[in-house]
Amino acid sequence: ETLATKAHEDPLTGLANRRKFDLVIAERLAEASQKWSAISLMIIDVDHFKLFNDTYGHQSGDECLQHLTRAISATISTPGSLVARYGGEEFVVILPGQDGAEARVTAENTRIAVRFTSLDMLPNTPPRQTISIGLVSCEAGSLMTRDAMLTAADAALYEAKKQGRNRVCVYSDMSRPHRQLFRPDPDMTPSELRSRSNSDISLNPCYLTCWLTRLSVSLLTSRGCRWFGAIRFRHI
Ligand code: GH3
Ligand code: MG
Ligand code: MG
Repeated sequence: ETLATKAHEDPLTGLANRRKFDLVIAERLAEASQKWSAISLMIIDVDHFKLFNDTYGHQSGDECLQHLTRAISATISTPGSLVARYGGEEFVVILPGQDGAEARVTAENTRIAVRFTSLDMLPNTPPRQTISIGLVSCEAGSLMTRDAMLTAADAALYEAKKQGRNRVCVYSDMSRPHRQLFRPDPDMTPSELRSRSNSDISLNPCYLTCWLTRLSVSLLTSRGCRWFGAIRFRHI
C-alpha cells in the first residue's frame, strides 16, 4: 500500500502527482455526467518563478513551492476535490460540484492565499509571490472531456499571464448557448447526440429571448408599425 501511495505522490510537495490526477479526473468526470452536476478545473502557475530561483537559489525555490502548496491546499475543501502537482511550478485543482460562479470564488481565494503567504523564514527573506490561474467550468449537463478541460484551462492561464499575472482568468466559451443542455445518455451514438443537441438548441431560452427582443424592436420601429398597422387594417 505504501508503494502504491508513493507512485501517486509528488515527493517535493506531498501532493498527488500527474498520474493520480489522470485517474481522479476520469472518475470525477464520470460522476459529474452520471449525477448531472457541475465540475470545474483550474491550472495554477507560479509567476516569474525562474527569477525566484535565479535570485534566491534552487533550494529556496523548493521550499517556496512547499509553502505555496500548503497555502493552495488550505483553500480547497470541496468534497471530492484534488490538488495535484502538474509539473514544475504548475498545479491542477479539480473542483467537483462547483459551477463557474462558485469556482471563481474558490480560485480568487486561492490566489489571495498565495499572495499573503509570507516567505520571511527563507534565507534572504524573499518577497511574497503570486500565481496566475486558468479556470474552466462545465455546468451541469454539459459534455466535456479531460483533454478539452485542460486545453481550455491552459488557454485561460495563458490569458491571465498575458493580462499581467496575479489574476484568475475564466475560459468562458463553454457557457455559450451552443453547449448541450440535455442529460446525455452514455449509450447514445454520435449521430443521436448530434440530432438531440440540435433540437435542444431551438428550445434554448437564450434563443427565445433573442427572438422576442427582435420582435419588440421591429414593432417599435416605423417599419414594424407599418407592418403592425397593415395587419390591423386588414382585420378591421
Ligand atoms: P511565468 O510567470 O511566465 O510562468 O514565468 P516563470 O519564470 O514562472 O516560467 P518559466 O517556465 O520560464 O520558468 C519556470 C521555472 O520554474 C523554471 C524552473 O527553474 C522552475 N522550477 C520548476 N520546477 C521546479 C522545482 O521543482 N524546484 C525549483 N526550485 N524550481 C522549479
Ligand atoms: Mg510554468
Ligand atoms: Mg511560472
